[in-house]
Amino acid sequence: MKEERLHKDTIVIHEGYDDKMHHGSLTVPLYQTSTFAFENSAQGENRFSGAEEGNIYSRLGNPTVRVLEERMTALENGKGALAFGSGMAAVSSILVHVTKAGDHILCSRGIYGCTFGFLGILNQKYNITHDLVQMGTEEEIEKAIKPETVCIYVETPINPTMELVDLQAVVNVAKRHGLRVIVDNTFTSPYLQNPLDIGADFVLHSATKYINGHGDVIAGLLIGNDKDEMEGIRMTVQKDFGGIMSPFDAWLLIRGLKTLSVRMERHTSNAEKLITYLKSQKQVEEIFYPFDPDNPQYELAKRQMRAGGGLVSFTIKGGKEAAQQFMDQLALIKIAVSLGDAETLIQHPATMTHSVVPETERIQMGITDSLLRLSVGLEHAEDLIQDMENAFARMKKTIVENAMH
Ligand SMILES: *Cc1c(COP(=O)(O)O)cnc(C)c1O
Repeated sequence: MKEERLHKDTIVIHEGYDDKMHHGSLTVPLYQTSTFAFENSAQGENRFSGAEEGNIYSRLGNPTVRVLEERMTALENGKGALAFGSGMAAVSSILVHVTKAGDHILCSRGIYGCTFGFLGILNQKYNITHDLVQMGTEEEIEKAIKPETVCIYVETPINPTMELVDLQAVVNVAKRHGLRVIVDNTFTSPYLQNPLDIGADFVLHSATKYINGHGDVIAGLLIGNDKDEMEGIRMTVQKDFGGIMSPFDAWLLIRGLKTLSVRMERHTSNAEKLITYLKSQKQVEEIFYPFDPDNPQYELAKRQMRAGGGLVSFTIKGGKEAAQQFMDQLALIKIAVSLGDAETLIQHPATMTHSVVPETERIQMGITDSLLRLSVGLEHAEDLIQDMENAFARMKKTIVENAMH
């Protein structure tokens, strides 16, 4: 029998919720409660023993949070999902779940700064080692595997260079060596890329970004392809570390998620318009965007992503000084880290998100002083272009004025 799954645009609005069970409430009610009353002692006993399904205590599960988990399971074509209090709680929980002391983790060349920080903790306390490697081909990945390697952890596109990791190559190698594959899918959202379809074991999101989309929540989500294993994680690492999502944050995320498909389409079309503009600017040197036909990884991008999304990096002539001048002349576009919000944000990775990376390593990764990362928002593209146009014009004026003094 063919499994009938709704389209993603519909899943984000309807999956996992039946209004008939909630007095006809159109929207998902907020169960802002820490605990749940049992009808009698026998029910309490049965809930604890697992003989009866049902709520016990909100750290073990909450009806509002569960709707979000079911929606994410469907969106990522998984078998189960867990909601966390931050993206980092999801990252640290899954890494603790798949490793034991002395193991080795293979990572893509670029990973989120705090994920790198957590790998340091695992290393210091439990002698769990890791390597960050280029994953262009199966051979490159295979070469880096050690006898104690247990999993491959990747981000694609890699922040902020937008370099892609070939997910099919990663999965092929992992299958040959019996390794688990974990993908941080924050940058694309489940609307543009579904690593479980390719054969990954776990997908995680900083829901702070595109899932919420409104810049007002810190949250994380983990989706897996094995229901029993996901329930196992819920009742071990998640329950006992306690990094759970609050019902109110889940409620805000359910609201934000409803517009994921329309938002991702606008983020993408705005990004494309901004790229066309940036290409026409003499001050701009290089543009990094997976769906740019000039990008050497364009074919790979089309294979594993549905569209390019809202993140665009580019370099401008004049190094750090010019990059900072450009940012300072913007008015509408905000200087901020984070991404995936309605507001267009710009940041300077060399002095902000990647400032802790040693300079030689940073340059090697392609994060030069002239690189800027844009998280393209939902505003009208013409207003964003005008803001950049004004900034470039004011920069030129400042340079001329400085030369005259
Ligand atoms: C923001 C981010 C994280 C961490 O998420 P938080 O919600 O801030 O804890 C992890 N991975 C990526 C790619 C991110 O952008």
